Amino acid sequence: MMISSRMVTSLNGQIANELLASHKYLAMSYCFEDMGLHVFAKRFMEQADEERGHALKIAKFIQDVGGKVILDKIDKPKSDYKSARQIVQAAVDSELLVTKQINDLVAQAEKEKDYATRSFLQWFVDEQVEEVATMSELLKLVVMAGEQYLLQVEGRLAAMMAAK
Ligand code: MG
Repeated sequence: MMISSRMVTSLNGQIANELLASHKYLAMSYCFEDMGLHVFAKRFMEQADEERGHALKIAKFIQDVGGKVILDKIDKPKSDYKSARQIVQAAVDSELLVTKQINDLVAQAEKEKDYATRSFLQWFVDEQVEEVATMSELLKLVVMAGEQYLLQVEGRLAAMMAAK
């Protein structure tokens, strides 16, 4: 195996973290549906898929370096959000948490002089900058609009999604 078994364990932990992030976004998406905010729901459903993609990307790397992928249980995500603002704030918090998790993995890889894993993780470092920025921007819009003008934010969000 090209990397340490400790590193494999940590990467498997991150698979669970990414799947939990995916699960959270899925629950958030259905909460948005309940609120009648279909564009938000679609955006968060897409984000759930993206997080699952992150988990699969890590699993592929583990296999590439000769490790064993082990899936863990996924905790029950929160689904009793009271407002759109509360959901988007929770999304920002979740992205900040994942950023810390990725940074911890980077620190471990550097400590172990594991340059293969360190290089692999760079994509995630960059991705987290993007995700925190995107969610923070959305939070700003939601706060600025207030609950009564969320449909206008939906219009903006739809345009942003179309431009991607
Ligand atoms: Mg992710």
